[in-house]
Amino acid sequence: VIRHPHEKEYLQAVYEFLDSLGDLVDSDSSITENNMIRRMVEPDRIISFKVIWEDDQGVNQVNTGYRVQFNQALGPYKGGIRFHPTVNQSILKFLAFEQTFKNSLTNLPLGGAKGGSDFNPKGKSDQEILRFCRAFMTELYTYLGPDLDIPAGDIGVSSKAVGYMFGMYKRLTHRHHGSFTSKGITYGGSLVRPQATGYGLVYITEALLKTYFDTSIQGKSFVVSGAGNVAIHTASKIISLGGMVKGMSESYGMIHHDKGIDIELLSSIKDKNQTLDQYLNTYSDAIYTDNPKDLWKIPVDIALPCATENELDLEDVKTLHQNHVMAILEGANMPTTLEATHYLIQNKIPFVPGKAANAGGVTVSGLEMQQNAMHVTWDFDTVDQKLKQVMHQIFYRLHEESLRLNNPYDLVKVANILSFKKVYQAMIEQGL
Ligand code: NDP
Repeated sequence: VIRHPHEKEYLQAVYEFLDSLGDLVDSDSSITENNMIRRMVEPDRIISFKVIWEDDQGVNQVNTGYRVQFNQALGPYKGGIRFHPTVNQSILKFLAFEQTFKNSLTNLPLGGAKGGSDFNPKGKSDQEILRFCRAFMTELYTYLGPDLDIPAGDIGVSSKAVGYMFGMYKRLTHRHHGSFTSKGITYGGSLVRPQATGYGLVYITEALLKTYFDTSIQGKSFVVSGAGNVAIHTASKIISLGGMVKGMSESYGMIHHDKGIDIELLSSIKDKNQTLDQYLNTYSDAIYTDNPKDLWKIPVDIALPCATENELDLEDVKTLHQNHVMAILEGANMPTTLEATHYLIQNKIPFVPGKAANAGGVTVSGLEMQQNAMHVTWDFDTVDQKLKQVMHQIFYRLHEESLRLNNPYDLVKVANILSFKKVYQAMIEQGL
């Protein structure tokens, strides 16, 4: 707190992590003797730079760009790029810290990183986004490469923006290699990558329902926050498995359709950059409010926060609990506040943290890197099956460990301990 007084998101992520490690640190004195906590919470390096780009009026605009290369113990740095006006160093440090341990849980040989800019792609023309991506990459490219650091997309970075950044990377380096994931299919991307985080979240939800309730997604009701990449693919998969999504949201509001959201309509509204109130033009029996948090008031079996950090707070989880929610799984990164997380654990509501629940995206990114290295392309079903297998493995490892610790309702602690142990061992063995 003294060293990073203004970095509240980063401190929140580190605090949650250390909170889980208390017993382990008490029982294993080598962690303290090796000064391992201090060594692990500090990023390897932070690259910060000015991005100057020309808008459609010919005016030079300036944004700040970042790449936080957090930890390289398990493999090259890996993590997405976010373009959003709220981006700052604290948010990227928290995301890169989380990414390090998420990647550890997937068992892929990947370190952790995250990058981005306070550039707002909303309302920008295609040419402005292209010029911004080129300017951003001009500053960043020397720090990237297939054995060094491999970015992907995140909030505000569509596959089109990934293509623009990768194209500029190639112009600057004269190399076509797997230095990005989430690439387009025509130039080295993997099938299932766009769907991966959402599908992965649903696969882990399936495993949870089977394990805790001996039931399936069929006939269950859901709310899914957000209406972006993760949320839309999550909702589509739920519907294809016989579940019903009763509500979804965006920054400006939320839509509640008790008969079940028409995901094709919702997704076509978002594709046209319209707001969710347009849904009412087709379904007059749906309800739109201009408060995204109203989503959590809809009584459902399962809640999946898939939008952004700290969107689900204590009041929201109390409401969900009163409405008999069975489980909550995080599609977004750190969408649940610390107080809300503690409440869920204390009240024995099965809760899977993002580190595990949204690891599907990086899992298929890892599969994309494997395909690029081998110069092969796997078909949709092959990638999808591998994704499902990894997500189930993550869940069953967490569940087994939680039973071993006699604490089946604290998967946060278990995810943190398991991911920590692997990074710890790799750092010790390499003297990092
Ligand atoms: P997108 O930019 O595609 O979508 C984000 C969505 O969230 C938008 O619909 C946005 O609405 C909505 N939103 C933003 N703030 C709020 C809010 N306060 N309440 C309700 N809705 C809100 O991003 P992604 O889907 O890619 O990412 C979502 C989350 O998942 C992030 O936390 C990201 O880090 C995480 N994640 C993403 C992965 C991926 O593969 N894409 C992988 C792992 C994690 P609007 O358009 O109105 O702003």
